Amino acid sequence: TYVVTDNCIACKYTDCVEVCPVDCFYEGENALVIHPDECIDCGVCEPECPADAIRPDTEPDMEQWVEFNRKYSELW
Ligand code: SF4
Repeated sequence: TYVVTDNCIACKYTDCVEVCPVDCFYEGENALVIHPDECIDCGVCEPECPADAIRPDTEPDMEQWVEFNRKYSELW
């Protein structure tokens, strides 16, 4: 899965939301989040993010961000 990280906070762009083929972006408190079970790992959102906030969860130390994305996406 891909996850939204701290660079997204207060970002006003929604380019990533528009390109996601499965609409798995949700509105968090002050950042967008990706539902980790709905993301199909296509990667098209990553280059669209002007804040470089979208990262694959295969990078090191991503556990906290997976939990952050899950927590806020499951409020919907
Ligand atoms: Fe959506 Fe693909 Fe980005 Fe996952 S990787 S959030 S499916 S655009």
